[in-house]
Amino acid sequence: MSKINVLKKVCVFCGSSSGNDLAIENAAIELGTAFVARDITLVYGAAKIGIMGTVAQTVLDQKGSVIGIIPQFLKKKEVVHLGLTQLITTQNMHDRKLQMQEVSDGFITLPGGFGTLEELFEVITWQQLGLHGKPIGLLNINGFYDEMIAMLETMVKRGFLKIENFNLILIDTSVSGLLGKMENFKAPPIPKWLKPERT
Ligand code: AMP
Repeated sequence: MSKINVLKKVCVFCGSSSGNDLAIENAAIELGTAFVARDITLVYGAAKIGIMGTVAQTVLDQKGSVIGIIPQFLKKKEVVHLGLTQLITTQNMHDRKLQMQEVSDGFITLPGGFGTLEELFEVITWQQLGLHGKPIGLLNINGFYDEMIAMLETMVKRGFLKIENFNLILIDTSVSGLLGKMENFKAPPIPKWLKPERT
């Protein structure tokens, strides 16, 4: 069966910390390995530290391609990785997220903290507004995101989140399952009331 989306570059949002669950560290390695096997370029926040660093180092160690995008002021704090295939320095956080969104064919979120959630929810809200139609995956390792998913279901039940917008997040517990869902994702039509040039 032919795929709806060809994933050549995928942006990964994840923690600048490593956490304390080996299963998460292993999933980061599995994801990086899957990218190299499928010839997918990793796009990420260019840090050497945390789960971010683990995914990037895995791809680089297996001779894959990595594009890092980081604002100038974070280069020291997040310990910029100087061995990437390409390093893009932006003026600020907004520019970083915009460039990540523009160069990538899809997005995957692994466990992380506030920064990770902010990045995930921004790409979802941009899709909800019809600003892009790229697949957004959530890799739910070891139940890390169970409570967040339950909260989103509460938002649907209480009438604050449309079920079709909830369904924009592709959720899976396995790397291959998630990549398969992303390849077959079909973006909903852009709302008629929205004119992208006005945003
Ligand atoms: P964290 O999940 O908090 O460890 O952060 C993961 C990544 O998200 C790091 O590269 C942070 O620089 C980034 N980040 C934090 N806050 C924001 C933000 N407001 N917009 C975009 N990226 C952010």
